[in-house]
Amino acid sequence: MLDYHLHLWPHDESETPLRVDQLAAYCAKAQAAGVEELAVTEHLFRFRQAESLLGGFWADARIPPALQASMAEYWDFHATADLDEYVACAQEAKDAGLPVVIGLEVDFYRGRMDQVAGLLENYPFDVLLGSVHWLGAWRFDDIDVPLQMDEWSTREVDDCWEDYTLALEELAASGACDVLAHPDLIKVAGFVPDAPTEWWDRMAEAAASSGMAAELSSAGWRKPVGEQYPALGLMERFAARGVPFTTASDAHRQEQVADQALALRQILQTVGVGSLQGYRGRVPHTVALGDPPRSAGAEEA
Ligand SMILES: [Zn+2]
Ligand SMILES: [Zn+2]
Repeated sequence: MLDYHLHLWPHDESETPLRVDQLAAYCAKAQAAGVEELAVTEHLFRFRQAESLLGGFWADARIPPALQASMAEYWDFHATADLDEYVACAQEAKDAGLPVVIGLEVDFYRGRMDQVAGLLENYPFDVLLGSVHWLGAWRFDDIDVPLQMDEWSTREVDDCWEDYTLALEELAASGACDVLAHPDLIKVAGFVPDAPTEWWDRMAEAAASSGMAAELSSAGWRKPVGEQYPALGLMERFAARGVPFTTASDAHRQEQVADQALALRQILQTVGVGSLQGYRGRVPHTVALGDPPRSAGAEEA
């Protein structure tokens, strides 16, 4: 098993120390749950280099002023770290023999993914996750912020899924990233169309036609929607098209590392997937699922 989606910093922390011993603790927690390899994948928007390149993308007359102001404040709070230091810390952990690869969670920036790719090609990343976290400047997944959640009552659910799927398709077609993170994140707050199959088909096709892998993530169990990403129907569509998978917790702290690894393994088995996809230097390779750890059942009971 893999845990290919890990953050070093909770969202409520702006100051961000980097520590190899934190990564060592993540590895110990993961290995106890039968997870052999980890990818460190901090958000691109935590770094000053991203702010220099992309800051102000929310300044668009079509975006409501309150959402623009909220995004400006969000970036001001989050974009405090140095990308060079982050990569050096992950490299140091890797060089010390810890089972980690160097990654990043990259957001979708409409029309600017070439610029993003240009920044990231200067670093020795093993794997890049691609994520759609916001539509325009609406952070539809920021469930703790009333301004963001109130927006759900002003829009049609089908329209939100359409906008999200378009963004996902453009992200996949850009070729800037390797893995679609939490592929159906748009369901996070629990708003799901009566018949999501049309959008599931397009999400699966976007992955298949771009050669990206899809992430099976336990993070959705910790959100209002209360199910893994992706939904079983979307999992089946990825599997039917031969899209490879990673597994992930999307942990933002040590306690969440390898969260629900056994349950993720069972979902893979349900859809007939017997291996995962790992990455080195952004080149994919197949990883056997392996046997579950003898203690895993007890741990997760
Ligand atoms: Zn994410
Ligand atoms: Zn994440």
